[in-house]
Amino acid sequence: MVSPLIKSIAFPTGQKYDQPTGLYINGEWRESKDTIDVINPSNGEVITSVYAAQESDVDNAVASARKAFKSWKKVTGEERGALMNRLADLLEKNAETVAGIEALDAGKPQFSNALPDIEGSVAILRYCAGWADKIYGNVIPSGPDKLLTSKRIPYGVVSQIVPWNYPLNMAMWKIAPALCAGNCIVIKSSESSPLSLLYFAELVNTAGFPPGVLNIISGLGPVAGARMASHPDVDKIAFTGSTKTGKEIQKLASSNLKTVTLECGGKSPLIVFDDAKLNQAIYWAAFGIMYNTGQICTANSRILVQDTIYDDFIEKFKAHVQENWFIGSPFDKKSTMGPVINKSQFEKVKHYIQRGKEEGAKLVIGDEPVTFESGYWIHPTIFVDCTQNMSIVKDEIFGPVVAISKFRSQEEAIELANDTEYGLAAMVFSKDIVTANTVASQLEAGTVYINSSNDDNIRVPFGGFKMSGTGSELGMEGVLAYTKIQAIHTNLTRD
Ligand code: NAD
Repeated sequence: MVSPLIKSIAFPTGQKYDQPTGLYINGEWRESKDTIDVINPSNGEVITSVYAAQESDVDNAVASARKAFKSWKKVTGEERGALMNRLADLLEKNAETVAGIEALDAGKPQFSNALPDIEGSVAILRYCAGWADKIYGNVIPSGPDKLLTSKRIPYGVVSQIVPWNYPLNMAMWKIAPALCAGNCIVIKSSESSPLSLLYFAELVNTAGFPPGVLNIISGLGPVAGARMASHPDVDKIAFTGSTKTGKEIQKLASSNLKTVTLECGGKSPLIVFDDAKLNQAIYWAAFGIMYNTGQICTANSRILVQDTIYDDFIEKFKAHVQENWFIGSPFDKKSTMGPVINKSQFEKVKHYIQRGKEEGAKLVIGDEPVTFESGYWIHPTIFVDCTQNMSIVKDEIFGPVVAISKFRSQEEAIELANDTEYGLAAMVFSKDIVTANTVASQLEAGTVYINSSNDDNIRVPFGGFKMSGTGSELGMEGVLAYTKIQAIHTNLTRD
């Protein structure tokens, strides 16, 4: 008999799969007092409901992680790495199904968008599995009477909270480094996209992780998320989401001074100098704002173009977007953009398009009626002649809406680019490597892409400046962020 906590769900293609809906705590599926309806953003209909963790469920998950840590901390790095590689193999084997779940639940085009997310998730699991037996400290020089060493040890129990734009992939940026460093985890998905992480929990079970090492829950932010952030027995919290919630998490985490990593919002500028390779700039500028329907924290939602090529850029950029970026069913192989995630995000993006028009920006494409009968669809939207005081230039919209402005000199480009409360990413296009690097070093952003946009690499640290966050994920820094340092002073004298 199929467990009542597993539901059979059909994709629009007719293919069916088994979807867990419970809370995965201490290696078993549990119910809770409450549920959340999971909505398909392509049509606004309920796909299923999942159990929503209450504060007491979070307490149980933390207790199970704490108990598991007693033995997990004795497991060798080699063994942890082997388990993680087994998990990566299972995820790879089920990649197409998981990509289908992301298409259904988050509206991501299954093959051009969701599948690369899952492949990236497999890659980060393997990358971190390789780190598991390579985390070590230092021997600090001293006189003959002392041995001074520092060790890198796991925090213990970590809470992790993720958003909906990359439901499994963002989770894997957190799970993989935390596991390889030897921590036990309680992770919560976004209430808007809980399905893929629950499916992943079954793979964790199959891979053979000890109960309690990885607890996976769904739940509401202000209920389960807030408890995870404030919990007195959690040693670290890692959060990805909006700056507004990030500020709240930091306050809640002060309850026991737990370590905090925050990956928050952005309003990233992309600068095009007049010596740039125009086709290259146009390709990446479009990719960086239209991919994932613009729901990317590092989306280049502001484009700054040198006055001498401004009109030419706009004409060619518009044509390129019209040809390559269009909405369509996430299950249609031709689709490059799905719907936005939910009704409130849809209304927020629409509100900003209206504000852009009212504030005097010129709408070049977008805001036309959508032919779909239901769901949360927004066409690619391009505004030009934008100025710094406009809300479409200042605020993170998190949709397929780009604001293009003009600059005259290098100094002006840098000034406009840095004129934002955010500091997540920036992009520079110029054939002159000196110009590109000189400008890059003056941009207040945690990541700068030269002659590309959003082509991240899991081996490179990622993190935000200013209101975009604190701390790093990915790369060696992302692994070490899940360790704390213990110093050992050994007296080598006999008396
Ligand atoms: P959000 O802040 O609304 O929610 C993110 C997560 O926080 C969800 O799991 C939610 O349940 C939880 N949450 C909400 N309120 C909470 C509270 N009071 N206490 C604890 N947890 C709470 O963000 P979102 O709308 O899901 O995601 C979009 C945002 O995420 C955008 O701002 C985007 O820029 C950001 N983002 C940042 C990165 C990055 O790496 N910097 C990556 C992806 C997304």
